[in-house]
Amino acid sequence: MRVRNRKGATELLEANPQYVVLNPLEAKGKWRDLFGNDHPVHVEVGSGKGAFVSGMAKQNPDINYIGIDIQKSVLSYALDKVLEVGVPNIKLLWVDGSDLTDYFEDGEIDRLYLNFSDPWPKKRHEKRRLTYKSFLDTFKRILPENGEIHFKTDNRGLFEYSLVSFSQYGMKLNGVWLDLHASDFEGNVMTEYEQKFSSKGQVIYRVEAEFQKIA
Ligand code: SAH
Repeated sequence: MRVRNRKGATELLEANPQYVVLNPLEAKGKWRDLFGNDHPVHVEVGSGKGAFVSGMAKQNPDINYIGIDIQKSVLSYALDKVLEVGVPNIKLLWVDGSDLTDYFEDGEIDRLYLNFSDPWPKKRHEKRRLTYKSFLDTFKRILPENGEIHFKTDNRGLFEYSLVSFSQYGMKLNGVWLDLHASDFEGNVMTEYEQKFSSKGQVIYRVEAEFQKIA
């Protein structure tokens, strides 16, 4: 997702500490305290403008959501969305998804979502794909033993790559959708990219992959 630098993005983020975690290193091991309850915590890495996390938070008040994006301006647009929705069970984090063990204790989150992650189609950029094994190492640590990644994309190449990457990592696939919108999947919350690409007639792929004890 490419956006121009947004003037005032920093000020907007800093003015909303109830939603934006400004000192993420200090949050490690304390996410349940930050939310003020013991509900499960679900994280979206690469949350973009936040339609998914805010929609999910509204739909599932008993789950806490954290939207993470590496781009500050993008995260500020997600904050607009969160302020509009106005639910308490959501927080935003401006960090790099490759460093998540700095911000979460082992097993501290309950599920991880990846939606329309950058495909990085060139082989020499494979390590930047969020389903590359080094990212899976990080995600596995912060999830419980049988934690799951739920991944959606319109990008067939990235989808094929990710299925192989999950499989080589020893993960179990609990569901695969080759055309999510034509399926009977219930409760789907669309992301910005999902709305954009599906309105152009592209199919949406989805997979649920579960980490196993012995990878
Ligand atoms: N999930 C949204 C946005 C998809 S675009 C949607 O479906 O509409 C991918 C997003 O991932 C971008 O906003 C980009 O800034 C973010 N991103 C890319 N690499 C990242 C990383 N290493 N850590 C966190 N966010 C990342």
